Amino acid sequence: MNHRNYAQKCLKRCEEELGSGDHERLKYAALELRMSMEALTYDRALAYKDEFPPAEYETWQPRKVMSVLLDIDPSADKDSSLAIGKQKEYGVPAQAMRSLGSEKVLNMTTLRKHYDALGSYLHLQSMKQVRAGKPLDFDKIRSRCEEIAAFVGEVLSSPVFNVTLGSFATMECMECGKPIRKRMPHGQEVVKVECYECHAAYTLVDKGNNNIEWQPQQHDIECANDDCKHKIVVWLHEVEAGKHWKCPSCNGKNTFELGISYEAEQ
Ligand SMILES: [Zn+2]
Ligand SMILES: [Zn+2]
Repeated sequence: MNHRNYAQKCLKRCEEELGSGDHERLKYAALELRMSMEALTYDRALAYKDEFPPAEYETWQPRKVMSVLLDIDPSADKDSSLAIGKQKEYGVPAQAMRSLGSEKVLNMTTLRKHYDALGSYLHLQSMKQVRAGKPLDFDKIRSRCEEIAAFVGEVLSSPVFNVTLGSFATMECMECGKPIRKRMPHGQEVVKVECYECHAAYTLVDKGNNNIEWQPQQHDIECANDDCKHKIVVWLHEVEAGKHWKCPSCNGKNTFELGISYEAEQ
């Protein structure tokens, strides 16, 4: 499904509903607008498919999808512009830059501000609101819908879209061999990353000069047989009550159990 295309169709239907001037049709305008925002969020998520595979978010609400997008890339909800230019000398920025246009993206602030508000127009008023005789302010709803529709229209007519630039650390997972790709946020030295395939976790440490160190979150665990003490390596996500392994040295069975340690008041 082409999310952008779908968002465009929703927006068009929303504008038709708004154009009818009928108060009773405002809820349909709000519904179309909400769906348009949802489609744009999924479209944005697709741009990050290496870091955030669709299988992870297909069943999520757009608001949750956007929160994760922001977590992957703090600039995910910022507008950006692209320009190119020919360098006369290698490494020296070109003097003449040609703009390729700017991207207007659906940002989290706007999403938070409008998404729920639109939702509230889709439900009946509560009995309390009806008892209080508080009528729906159709003019307010209409101007809100128009404001959001204008914003969504700008996002959709942006000549450049879904630009994701950044520095990435890439490595094959030590456990399953699948590639892991992680964006290194600007100015951040330590980042946690998890393999989408097998959930092995790593800590990435920026050592400077494009040197990223991958530290697997593993622990050495000894066989609980006092006469054996053979060590195996266990991933952090594997440490769970009930999980067990057969010791390769003494063939005994070791099982993780919940335990409590107590220290008396000092
Ligand atoms: Zn893996
Ligand atoms: Zn053992």
